[in-house]
Amino acid sequence: MAPMGEFELIDRFFNRPARRAAMGVGDDCALLQPQPGMQLAVSCDMLVEGRHFLSTVAPERLGHKALAVNLSDLAACGAEPLAFVLALSLPRADEAFLAPFAAGLFALADEHGIELVGGDTTAGPLNVCITVFGQLPAGQALLRSGARPGHDIWVSGRLGDARLALEVFRGHATLPGSAFEEVRRAMERPTPRLALGLALRGVATSAIDLSDGLVGDLGHVMRQSGVGATIELDALPRSAVLETQSQALQRVCLLAGGDDYELLFTAPPSRRDAVLSAASAARVAVTRCGTVEAGDELRVVDADGRLVEPGHGFDHFAS
Ligand code: ADP
Ligand code: MG
Repeated sequence: MAPMGEFELIDRFFNRPARRAAMGVGDDCALLQPQPGMQLAVSCDMLVEGRHFLSTVAPERLGHKALAVNLSDLAACGAEPLAFVLALSLPRADEAFLAPFAAGLFALADEHGIELVGGDTTAGPLNVCITVFGQLPAGQALLRSGARPGHDIWVSGRLGDARLALEVFRGHATLPGSAFEEVRRAMERPTPRLALGLALRGVATSAIDLSDGLVGDLGHVMRQSGVGATIELDALPRSAVLETQSQALQRVCLLAGGDDYELLFTAPPSRRDAVLSAASAARVAVTRCGTVEAGDELRVVDADGRLVEPGHGFDHFAS
């Protein structure tokens, strides 16, 4: 059999008929038509082998995760996803990789009714870069800059499982098989909180998705809002699996974890009922875990109000 060329590869695995887009894969540009009065929300995230994923990840999960981490950014803005483009560098045109990769990618795309409208394909080290396009009513995006002293700090879902899985891969923690599968799934197959992001428009005063760990990502909100914060360590939502680990490891996973893809957001205490309604409409648990403060400091406290060393978030060029 002749080796598969670039255009055959695109046609076989990534060219599906456009539905919503005015022009999809196959021409020089894709054409998108946002609805009148809507702003485009655009975000781009790259996954590099050895940096963002391990070579052991199943291709189906890599396809899922590459899109999920991008959708998570749209969720953090409160945008509705429309379409995405895929820039793919891969060592070989290998069907055993491409078929499950595309299956994982399109399963998540179909779940949210969005389509792949273009991209670029090249031979090289395995590297997956997706750009997503979403829309939202002009002026209604959830930004990092709206937190004010006195607002509650909330997070969705549970934190720390993805980091725990990484620590097991690194040989720094051990788990029985089924518990490992659970946290490995959190790391490899995150759920973007799109419905929650949409439901929080007009309720949350700021939002960010947790990709680099709570301390680092909350730090972005603090800087851009010009505020400080107090986080109650014991209030942070965690799985039963994470609870089996030492207090020190739990703290690292919860505060400096990364790869959680949950939303962290702020809202005035007067909107607690509205936050809980948004969460139940989106079928996601949310937990109040801190308070926005005046100043610029982050204080992490335990149940007795004692200060806890917070550590730092993930930075590709610092660690
Ligand atoms: P050009 O040379 O005009 O930049 P290409 O030859 O790279 O275009 O790609 C041909 C068509 O296939 C374009 O419409 C492009 O958007 C699309 N395409 C290329 N790679 C991918 C991919 N990985 N997924 C989806 N569409 C792709
Ligand atoms: Mg062209």
